[in-house]
Amino acid sequence: MFERYYGSLGYSEMILDICETSRIYITSRRFKSWKGTHYIFNDSVFGGKPLLLGTLLTDFLSYNFNSYNEFADFVDKYGISGLGSLAKSLKNIKLDTSFNDEAKEKLLSTAWNESKEILNKAQRYFKRAVYYCLDLESGENLNILNSKQRFYLLNFLPDIKEELNSIIPEDEMTRYIDELKTVFFIDSADIGKIKLKDITEASPRDIKDAVELIKDFDFVAKKSYHSPNIISLLYIEFVELINNNTPVKKCGHCGHYFIPEHKIDTEFCNRIVKYINGVGRTCKEVGPKERYRSKKMKEPLNLLFDRKYKTLYARINSKGKKSITGKQFDYWRDMAREKLEIAISGTDNEKERFKKWLEESSKIEWFKNIEPEANNDGEH
Ligand SMILES: [Zn+2]
Repeated sequence: MFERYYGSLGYSEMILDICETSRIYITSRRFKSWKGTHYIFNDSVFGGKPLLLGTLLTDFLSYNFNSYNEFADFVDKYGISGLGSLAKSLKNIKLDTSFNDEAKEKLLSTAWNESKEILNKAQRYFKRAVYYCLDLESGENLNILNSKQRFYLLNFLPDIKEELNSIIPEDEMTRYIDELKTVFFIDSADIGKIKLKDITEASPRDIKDAVELIKDFDFVAKKSYHSPNIISLLYIEFVELINNNTPVKKCGHCGHYFIPEHKIDTEFCNRIVKYINGVGRTCKEVGPKERYRSKKMKEPLNLLFDRKYKTLYARINSKGKKSITGKQFDYWRDMAREKLEIAISGTDNEKERFKKWLEESSKIEWFKNIEPEANNDGEH
């Protein structure tokens, strides 16, 4: 696949390949760092992994371009090619140009100052466009329409049109889109399925022989878009999502748009939101637990239980008069959990009774009735 990119990238262009299978590949000029020197080279983003259609758009919408660090992260991931006509200083960066740390930082901070305004605008623009056309949870009854019907509204309903125009005027958007070049090709990974040599030997002038050779293979026709500005590529991806009627959701944890990978009811995205012991955790991993915790904490009885739990836990084998044993604690905990469950789904009376029990059971006298070594299955 690389020959094509190296051959066709005379100057800096971001490339978006779209396959029939709703997958995309992105290629861009990026920094490759080696011993404090940063070289510019052409690279497939995400190591050439196929990405879900909509990944570039939804990822772009999740960055805060008012922050230099996030801008730098974005450039690290997606390279500089998509900023070529948005930031003057990135326009003519040649392949293999090298920078030291300081020069790279200077280049990026200049580019950030040149492009953050338009990046912010593009973000506002596409957030609204996604809301109107693709967001599954949009209000105003929009989600009873399919995305193409919604796209129609976007283009013809004066209110929506004007709103988007006020963010990026139509003629400006047209200028970005005019910078696009389109190429159609067959994925060279597919070409590799048949050795070109075989075709040569089968004599390519003989169509019958070629037909025999090709009939058992399936090819993927790709559309490839080249542009020095990321806005036009975002627009292409946006329109492709509409054509495919691909739904877009807001993550239940980080609140950013994402493309649900399998089930439509996936609630959380695959972005890494925090690191635990140096391992990145995604919203999908963290989200359900945190949601459960915050829901749990909204229930006042849970709060009371939790507080009491901590107090008593601290008393296990403590020095004071109120010291209890681990076994006693376990006994209390199991009983408290059982009563808590009943109280939460119970009447007001039952809730009150649980609160009283909680008070009683935290007194040291209550534990006197439990043998220090009492085991958990003992009846109380
Ligand atoms: Zn998320």
